[in-house]
Amino acid sequence: MKGLVYGGPGIREWTDVPDPKILQPTDVIVKMEATTICGSDLHVLKGDVPETPVGTVLGHEGVGVVTEVGDAVTAIRVGDRLLLSCMTTCGHCVNCRKGLLSHCLGEEGVPGDAWVFGHYLNGTQAEYVRVPYAETSTYKIPEGVEDRSAILLSDILPTGFEIGVQNGQVKPGDTVAVIGAGPVGLAAVATAGLQGAAKIISVDLDDNRLARAEEFGATAGVNSGAAEWREQLLALTDGEGVDVAMEAVGIPPTLQMATEIVRPGGHVANVGVHGKPVEIAMEKLWTKNITITMGLVNTTSLEMLLNLVAAGKLAVDRFVTHEFAFDEFEKAYDVFANAAKTNALKVLIH
Ligand code: NAD
Ligand code: ZN
Repeated sequence: MKGLVYGGPGIREWTDVPDPKILQPTDVIVKMEATTICGSDLHVLKGDVPETPVGTVLGHEGVGVVTEVGDAVTAIRVGDRLLLSCMTTCGHCVNCRKGLLSHCLGEEGVPGDAWVFGHYLNGTQAEYVRVPYAETSTYKIPEGVEDRSAILLSDILPTGFEIGVQNGQVKPGDTVAVIGAGPVGLAAVATAGLQGAAKIISVDLDDNRLARAEEFGATAGVNSGAAEWREQLLALTDGEGVDVAMEAVGIPPTLQMATEIVRPGGHVANVGVHGKPVEIAMEKLWTKNITITMGLVNTTSLEMLLNLVAAGKLAVDRFVTHEFAFDEFEKAYDVFANAAKTNALKVLIH
């Protein structure tokens, strides 16, 4: 079969790789129908994720059809159409039982996190993939849910909802700001309404992204490149600040921005993945009764979000801006990696 292989920093190729085989009785083999590219894949490609072995097939998002099942698999049959979670989870270790799926201790020698596809093991950007712990790491896709919607549930929608909206404890009537209007920030914008946010302010440097945010439910946009961005934002909250400030970029200045625009008693929900320490003005924040949260997505909301999509209550297909065939994978990477020029949000490879 063919897969998109990490060949060391800066090197990727859509090339021949061995067909995956069942290795554990809890495995299934899935023929990929659709997959996509995530910012994390770009990090691996840059060489920022040294634990990923050279030769690994990338990708951790996908939809496919089961072609083979292991001996212990009873709830999944050949021919089932499955959504693959970005988290591969045994379902019975101490962390899984606490709902901390992202920290599954599964027996496969996975050191402390459940992001396995395209990280420690061959991923979903391939014609076939071996899915470990299949019964607890996949979801049957309800009739009528298309690939272009389902694919968003592997990672970005649960991430925006769980780490942004749920951790931020958004309540009915709240005013929320989401800093960063990439796929993840927009997923938070798109799901903040599920917990009743009244005003959703999107903050980004890119006016195109701010315009996009309005299509996903943002009630206002603020360009943080403007000198008076803070005044603009506070004016939208009667000067009080937001109830919940979410950070969906992953750099020190944007987390600091979140702490500057939150009102007393509010929540700062960090979603971005940081590569270096961030200085937080604790001396100003402590009297404001601020809660700061962070985390790795657990995908515990995945099934609920899938049900909403299936019921037509969460329209997400507009995340897909570009479509490619599998043999155009390299082109898909070029388009996704140049999002500022191409206006790509999510690319669907199918
Ligand atoms: P992205 O790079 O596509 O989008 C980032 C956005 O932030 C862009 O629109 C960019 O214009 C904007 N931005 C950059 N600097 C800014 C600034 N100073 N002010 C305002 N906006 C600014 O990223 P993404 O794919 O949407 O992911 C966002 C973050 O979420 C990343 O750090 C990613 O690694 C992280 N992430 C976290 C989890 C988790 O489990 N916590 C899971 C997936 C992704
Ligand atoms: Zn587990």
